[in-house]
Amino acid sequence: MADVFTLGIDVGSTTSKCVILRGGAEPVASSLVPAGTGTSGPGRALDEALAQAGLAREQLAALVATGYGRNSFPGADFTVSELSCHALGAAALMPGVRTVIDIGGQDAKVLRVSSAGRLESFLMNDKCAAGTGRFLEVMARILELDVSQLAEMDAQASGTVSISSTCTVFAESEVISHLANNVDLRDLVAGIHASVAVRAAGLARRLGITAPLGMTGGVARNAGVVRALEKELGAAIAVSPMAQLAGAYGAALCGWNKRKE
Ligand code: ADP
Repeated sequence: MADVFTLGIDVGSTTSKCVILRGGAEPVASSLVPAGTGTSGPGRALDEALAQAGLAREQLAALVATGYGRNSFPGADFTVSELSCHALGAAALMPGVRTVIDIGGQDAKVLRVSSAGRLESFLMNDKCAAGTGRFLEVMARILELDVSQLAEMDAQASGTVSISSTCTVFAESEVISHLANNVDLRDLVAGIHASVAVRAAGLARRLGITAPLGMTGGVARNAGVVRALEKELGAAIAVSPMAQLAGAYGAALCGWNKRKE
C-alpha cells in the first residue's frame, strides 16, 4: 500500500497547484505555478510535481482535478468540487479544525467541516472581487508592491488607515487619494488587510463559527490578513505551511479514498 501514489491538481483562477501523496498520507511532491485555468500553468504544475516525485503519469493510481478550472483540465481520472477538496485537505493539514476560511484569487468561502473532514455547510462570495486575493493584487499593484511583500509592511504599521469603500473599483480610487495625501504606506496596507478581514469575518458570522478555526487558500500566506482576521473574530486561526495547496491535497486524498473502494 505504501507505494500507491495519488495526485491532486487544483486548477485555480490565478494559480495551478499539485500535490502527490504516497499511501494517501505522505506528501512526496508539490508544485505551485502562478498561472491558472486556460494557461499552460496546469500542465506545467503537473509536469513539475511528477518530475519532483520521479514518477510517470501511468504510475499514479489516480489523478484528480479540482478548482475553478477543473473541467477544462484534460487527463484527470475524475473531478471533485473544490469545496469538498478544501474541506478534506484542511482537515488533513490542520487536524480538528471545524471552520475553514478559504480566500483564493477570485472568491472567498467559509466552510464548516466535520472532524472527519466532511463538508457540513458553506457560504461563498464569488460575485465581487472585494475580500478576495484579486482585491489584494489590485491594491499591491497601486502601491508598487508584490502581494508577498504586504504582510511585512503590515507588521511594521503603527496604525490603520481605514478603507471605507466596499467596492474594489472605489477602494482603488480611495487608496490612490490616500497616497496623494502621503499617508504612511504601512498603515495603508494594514487598512487594506482590515478591509479583507471584515468581509471574510462577515461571511463567517453568517455561516456560524465553530472553533477551532483554520485558513486555506493563497491569501492565508499573507500573515497580515490572518492577523487582521484573528483580531476581527477574536479567535486564533491555524494556518498550515501548505495552506495554498489545501485543495490539491484534498483532491489527492479523494483519489486515495476512491481507489480503495
Ligand atoms: P486560485 O485558486 O483562485 O488561483 P489561490 O488560492 O491560489 O487562488 O490564491 C491566490 C491568491 O493568493 C492571490 O490572489 C494572492 O492574493 C495570494 N498570494 C499568492 N501568493 C502569495 C504570497 N506569497 N504572499 C501573500 N499572498 C499570496
